[in-house]
Amino acid sequence: MAGGNFNKTRVLVTGGAGFLGSHLCERLLKEGYSVICLDNYFTGQKRNIFHLMDNRNFEVIRHDIVNPIFLEVDEIYNLACPASPIHYQYNPVKTTKTSVMGAINMLGLAKRVKAKILQASTSEVYGDPTIHPQKEDYWGNVNTIGTRACYDEGKRCAETLFFDYYRQNRVNIRVARIFNTYGPRMHPNDGRVVSNFIIQALKQEPITIFGDGTQTRSFCFVDDMIEGLVKMMNAPDDFVGPVNLGNPEESSILDLAHLIITMTGSRSEIQFLPPPMDDPQRRQPDISLAQSKLDWHPKVNIEEGLEKTIQYFRGLLQER
Ligand code: NAD
Ligand code: UDP
Repeated sequence: MAGGNFNKTRVLVTGGAGFLGSHLCERLLKEGYSVICLDNYFTGQKRNIFHLMDNRNFEVIRHDIVNPIFLEVDEIYNLACPASPIHYQYNPVKTTKTSVMGAINMLGLAKRVKAKILQASTSEVYGDPTIHPQKEDYWGNVNTIGTRACYDEGKRCAETLFFDYYRQNRVNIRVARIFNTYGPRMHPNDGRVVSNFIIQALKQEPITIFGDGTQTRSFCFVDDMIEGLVKMMNAPDDFVGPVNLGNPEESSILDLAHLIITMTGSRSEIQFLPPPMDDPQRRQPDISLAQSKLDWHPKVNIEEGLEKTIQYFRGLLQER
């Protein structure tokens, strides 16, 4: 990274007002980068980035990446896309457009200004996996016509575009496959399991488990994820990914519910509801590639991460 005011590395973070994007902007500003946060506020919130507004190295642009934009930047983190099933299924055609046309627009920009570009891909490219844990060379098991397909196939096509721009146009790419990540600034209404369970527990409402709760996920705390994304962006140019980023500590949804009830001291009871369509049964990243190539592994265990997240939602509910 260059020093001095006029030759700082200029970084564009699409989806910068979202959960992961806002933490990423904050981290990059702390490291002295000049940051442009681009967002259409579909699921992002201005409150996520208010505290950064006074920083003279921070700029915000309201823009939709489905439309082209021209900016002079050195690096692009492409995070713009709703991530929770409720939000990405709200307007599925738009979700595919954001993933595919957004990727084309951001890759076109990277090509034009010779910027390095990182794609926030997802464990959803593996669909409902038939191998466990998931390694990067597994091609996945996705239902092309299901309700999750707008996101899963959109993200898969985005990966294809990244690798074609890399091979065809020599764009300097990075692809990170993010597994379930949680922490402060998750959208309270996005229906993701960690935020839902914490809010339900704090309000003494029933904890809604979809299915029988034996399905598993592996939860990564946001600080660890941001560290992984930054390391991937700064990896040597011959390591473009895809690389899994996530916490391999696997938990059933039922165990997660019990843990959150205990940690919040809640009187909430568990309510079992029908499972959603194509809900993946097991998910756990094999992170040996990230460990060997990026010297990265998560450091925050689930209790520590949940404690910080519970504190955040407690504050949010008190404010209301
Ligand atoms: P989020 O919904 O909080 O953030 C997404 C941001 O993108 C929001 O600020 C939203 O307003 C913005 N956005 C959406 N569509 C846009 C568009 N067309 N133009 C401009 N901005 C747009 O979600 P998040 O959890 O922060 O996820 C960020 C990225 O990481 C997403 O690409 C997501 O697919 C990926 N990811 C996240 C997780 C996770 O567990 N959080 C897991 C896998 C992948
Ligand atoms: N889930 C649940 N209750 C909720 C929200 C989610 O049981 O209130 C389940 C959901 O069916 C899935 C898991 O928790 O099996 C993780 O869901 P989430 O939407 O957080 O993420 P994803 O399915 O994309 O991994």
